[in-house]
Amino acid sequence: HQAAADADRFRPAFTTDGHRVEIVANIGHAEEAAAAVEAGAEGVGLLRTEFLFLGRETAPTEEEQFLAYTEMIRALNGLPLIIRTLDIGGDKIVPYLGLAHEENPFLGVRGIRLCLRRPDVFKTQLRAIYRAAATAEAGAVKIMFPMVTTLEDLRSAKKLAEAVRAEIGGPACELGIMVEVPSVVLMAREFAREADFFSVGTNDLTQYALAIDRQHPELGKEADALHPAVLRLIDLTVKAATAEGKWVGVCGGAAGEPLGASILTGLGVAELSMSAPSLAAVKAKLRGTSLKALRALAQRALACSTAAEVRALSK
Ligand code: PEP
Ligand code: MG
Repeated sequence: HQAAADADRFRPAFTTDGHRVEIVANIGHAEEAAAAVEAGAEGVGLLRTEFLFLGRETAPTEEEQFLAYTEMIRALNGLPLIIRTLDIGGDKIVPYLGLAHEENPFLGVRGIRLCLRRPDVFKTQLRAIYRAAATAEAGAVKIMFPMVTTLEDLRSAKKLAEAVRAEIGGPACELGIMVEVPSVVLMAREFAREADFFSVGTNDLTQYALAIDRQHPELGKEADALHPAVLRLIDLTVKAATAEGKWVGVCGGAAGEPLGASILTGLGVAELSMSAPSLAAVKAKLRGTSLKALRALAQRALACSTAAEVRALSK
């Protein structure tokens, strides 16, 4: 039995009608890469690089970051690694970055907005990533920008990344964006022309679509990523990306729920990235059903009026 379970864990997830969904892991520490592979991940769909910056007095050096990224690349042994550039600011305290107090930190200088205002911090990270990518198999390391809101954000970030890459003679890496803000969904055709891939961050997309602080003690529970408003945004995102020949992943919490993973696959999401403990259940769920059935489920979910109605579809 143990041998069978092991074999299952490492097999890719194919639906009964032969559609493969890439199942990868979200990690937030260098040591988690090996554990994610051991749990059956086919790579890392979201490396939250904040761990390198939090709980210390000074910013991590290029060398420290380079060592952390190469450690993960080695642990992944050729499997893909999507490195998200620093997504900090707002509620996370990083004294040495000298962030100003903000009344609405989730609407303030966070993610790519911070990095574009601190090119010293951003370029150091990009140099470390490109140097690390040079030690990996070609194409294995991809770079992803968080909290992108406007095309100017993306263009500025790409320009800096390309300047750093050219300066150190680094390898070409795909440059993608997190889809976490409704403006990006509404402009998704334009973004898809200029980004290599999309990864939907359902935690933030839900927060910004429903205007509910995801950490709110009272309202947080209502920030349901399976709300039909959020699913319709994801549907628009996938359609726009597909029209431009780009792929879409999801790395927010919805990807790690069996019902969420089913609906997202039915909407045409190609890659689901989740915390390691969710990998086995999601793979099992997808293996037990057909893409045809998941597409029908996704259409029923899009037609729902409330999150509760969507949740009831699992019954
Ligand atoms: C998200 O917003 O869904 C996401 C994956 O990013 P984070 O949870 O790190 O904000
Ligand atoms: Mg986010």
